[in-house]
Amino acid sequence: TPVIKKITSIPIALYGGRNAVTMLPGGGIGPELMSYVKEVFKYAGAPVDFEIVDIDAKAEDNIDLEYAITSIKRNGVAIKGNIETKSKSSEVLSRNVAIRNELDLYVNILHVKSYPGVPARQKDIDIVIIRQNTEGEYAMLEHESIDGVVESMKVVTESNSERVARFAFEWAKANGRKKITTIHKANIMKLSDGLFLDTSQKIAKEYPEIEHNEMIIDNCCMQLVSKPHQFDVMIMTNLYGSIVSNVVCGLIGGAGLLSGKNYGDHYAIFEPATRNTGKAIAGKNVANPIAMLSASVDMLEHLGHNQHAKMIQRAIYKTVCEDKIHTPDLGGTATSTDVVQKIIDHILQSDIRPW
Ligand code: ATP
Repeated sequence: TPVIKKITSIPIALYGGRNAVTMLPGGGIGPELMSYVKEVFKYAGAPVDFEIVDIDAKAEDNIDLEYAITSIKRNGVAIKGNIETKSKSSEVLSRNVAIRNELDLYVNILHVKSYPGVPARQKDIDIVIIRQNTEGEYAMLEHESIDGVVESMKVVTESNSERVARFAFEWAKANGRKKITTIHKANIMKLSDGLFLDTSQKIAKEYPEIEHNEMIIDNCCMQLVSKPHQFDVMIMTNLYGSIVSNVVCGLIGGAGLLSGKNYGDHYAIFEPATRNTGKAIAGKNVANPIAMLSASVDMLEHLGHNQHAKMIQRAIYKTVCEDKIHTPDLGGTATSTDVVQKIIDHILQSDIRPW
């Protein structure tokens, strides 16, 4: 969408008409999901070459992490699974958080839209969650001040709150959305959430055409489960964003369906919305491939390969909503590879010919 292009100045790697993109498979089901992306791209003729960077979950140093960050800085764009960090030492940071922070990917955007034909707790959901992605409760500043007493810092800055609010209002304007709700707990966290709320209220005044309201996070969770259709676009801090994203994904069919986008001023990373590792189901040919394939569609759109994106998107839609080829997480009996094969069949029959 136009606003993304405006906000994210993308130094995309392009060699002979093909994009180089960093691929971080991560742990659990990540590698198998990436193999489906590569397979689907092959049949769709998507002009993308992947630079694969594996990060050792057990490493006590950050050498792989630094290599991954360098690769993303070179290519501008990445697709990723969830990266595990096995170390419990507070010195070894979550690699997922470290990547987002280092690349200043200050906003996560998750468009939760119901898939017709997928059994779900709520129907016709169309909610956009815009989440602060680099600070708040994820500042990773924790220490044990004395034995048995741990302190953890939640960092909220006016500048990052403003960037997220502005992104949300610009996105809403560019995409014809009518209402934004800021989610917070400013009644208890008066300074931190207070600043986040004050800032979005200040920015809201610049966009009189978009309705703005606010809601406390606990009420928000109850409203989401009972009356989700009242929500249009939502803005929130990092941890609330993680929890609310999982609630809303749960309403429409779980962790296997949706993708999320991470943007900063220079780089973009695409990944499954709920950022799961899925260790328990890895290697069993049951993981739902749709979330990662949707992330790959988001990535193609970002790179400007709109026809390829549309071709894969339509093939996904036909497979999931019309043929109803569903993996067990959606109540079906299909394997991951059944779903991918059907998507490839639709691509081969597609009347969209990008090449
Ligand atoms: P971890 O793997 O980090 O130990 P976990 O196994 O408890 O965590 P998550 O990876 O956080 O679970 O995933 C949450 C739930 O969502 C799990 O039940 C997992 O099987 C399921 N899930 C995640 N991704 C998918 C997917 N692509 N397809 C089907 N189920 C999925």
